[in-house]
Amino acid sequence: MLSFVRALGFLAPLVVAALVTVGLGIAANLEPEQRPTLVIVLGVAAAAGMTTMALLAWSYVGWRLSRIAQALERTLESDEPINLREVGIPAERRLARAFNAASGAFVQTEARATHDRLTGIPNRETLLATLSAELERAVRHYKPLSVAFIDIDRFKPINDTYGHNSGDAVLRQVAGIIADSVRASDTFGRYGGEEFMLILPETTPEDAVGLAEELRLLVMQEPLVIAGGQSLKATISIGVAGGRGSQLQIDMLVDRADAAMYAAKSLGRNRTYLFRELDEEAPVRRAPISPEHRAQATAIGQWASDTATQALASVLAPQPHHRGRPSDMIASLATGIALEMGLPREEIERIRIASLLHDLGKIAIPDEILDKPTTLTDPEWQTIGEHPRIGQVILEQASSLREAIPVVLHHHERFNGGGYPHGLRGTEIPLGARIVAVADAYHAMVHDRPYSSALAHDAALAELRANAGTQFDPDVVDVFCTVYADSVPPDGLEEIYRLHERATGGLPHLDARPHLHPHRPPSSGKRRRQRQASG
Ligand code: GH3
Ligand code: MG
Ligand code: MG
Repeated sequence: MLSFVRALGFLAPLVVAALVTVGLGIAANLEPEQRPTLVIVLGVAAAAGMTTMALLAWSYVGWRLSRIAQALERTLESDEPINLREVGIPAERRLARAFNAASGAFVQTEARATHDRLTGIPNRETLLATLSAELERAVRHYKPLSVAFIDIDRFKPINDTYGHNSGDAVLRQVAGIIADSVRASDTFGRYGGEEFMLILPETTPEDAVGLAEELRLLVMQEPLVIAGGQSLKATISIGVAGGRGSQLQIDMLVDRADAAMYAAKSLGRNRTYLFRELDEEAPVRRAPISPEHRAQATAIGQWASDTATQALASVLAPQPHHRGRPSDMIASLATGIALEMGLPREEIERIRIASLLHDLGKIAIPDEILDKPTTLTDPEWQTIGEHPRIGQVILEQASSLREAIPVVLHHHERFNGGGYPHGLRGTEIPLGARIVAVADAYHAMVHDRPYSSALAHDAALAELRANAGTQFDPDVVDVFCTVYADSVPPDGLEEIYRLHERATGGLPHLDARPHLHPHRPPSSGKRRRQRQASG
């Protein structure tokens, strides 16, 4: 079309020349008084011709521009790049090419800004924007809305054991499984690290729990392929929160879903936990502790941590400098820098302890290498290079204290929900806490207490059985009564170390019976009293 207009443009001088020639010819044969009329007619004809041309060109350019504008608008709305046909005169083709390139680049940039690069699902910004829009809709129409936080369990060890590439592969596959299984109306994205968020419009929290459980089972069953063709399975913990209409607020939903996710973690992971309002009536109650007790607990915790640090540091203390002896100088320098930088108190404390322990890993490096006076060989350098990772592994073992938290927190829960501090019931109570509760109760029963005298072994077993299902987990009581059916559990730490050795030695299961000393004579005065009391 533009070629046609251009051809017309080229023709215009010819037409004007023809008109002038024809006009002059006609004028030569005309009476002088008729000539002005001819000039006017020719002028009008030329003007009409040029106006028509201009109109034609104007409409065409307008039509083309509106096509480009439409394509641009479509690009803004669509996830796919728009492709204009590259036809017409060179300038048109060039414009189309430039447009297509720009449209592709735009879509790519937009995808990068709104989606997570690794997993290809929406990123945190998009999630929050979607949540805000959905929340507004839910409030306006008084509709329910739920949010789920999903976190991969024990993901760090996957990274540490198989490497970051395998970690990435696991992240991608878990994201893929969930993204493929949510409803079209849901938005699922990566909130950060190995944490995902699922926004469920028009879904009550109870329904959201149902959906979350389906996702959890899907992830749990699917083998995930990692580097070297190996496969492994991962589990997820899910926290759900939700509500309806005007009770909803973004911060509240996010905080609650997050808190619920942490509750799912502390209850043993690989589970879904629905946020529950804490009030006096609810089965889950607040577990307040007084300011004095909190201060005391913090001080004791500090002491425990100091003791552990000292114990570790004392392992290094006799070593020469180059073998990693903790240096007061390094500690005070590091602490000084941290103080000067205005870091928070806990962070300074972390840095102080870390500075004392930073070379802990050298413990596992052979002395011949550390003490070698001559140049090290390549393999020797490699061995030295392992010491930070060895330090990491040592400290990770020590972090089992932190893992004890759920057991410590919940060992007074009752199987029927009547215990404290959270009133958890059944399998909501971490297994470790259910086990410790039985052991703790048995221990109390067979020893004298200020308010009652000790029971005999059989009487204690009967008491445990009588309370199985209400106070205690019946399965745990069953196991306990089977293991100790005809033998008194031994007092004394040696047995514990033996059992621990057997457990870490990879025995298929721990059967304590053959290793017990049936009815071994009690060694402590207490035990003697227990016998007398039961006799
Ligand atoms: P928990 O069951 O308590 O959630 O334990 P966890 O090990 O999964 O949790 P933690 O928060 O201690 O560790 C999360 C790890 O996720 C730490 C970090 O290195 C890793 N991570 C975060 N983002 C990425 C990523 O993009 N790729 C890989 N490979 N790892 C990541
Ligand atoms: Mg995790
Ligand atoms: Mg995490």
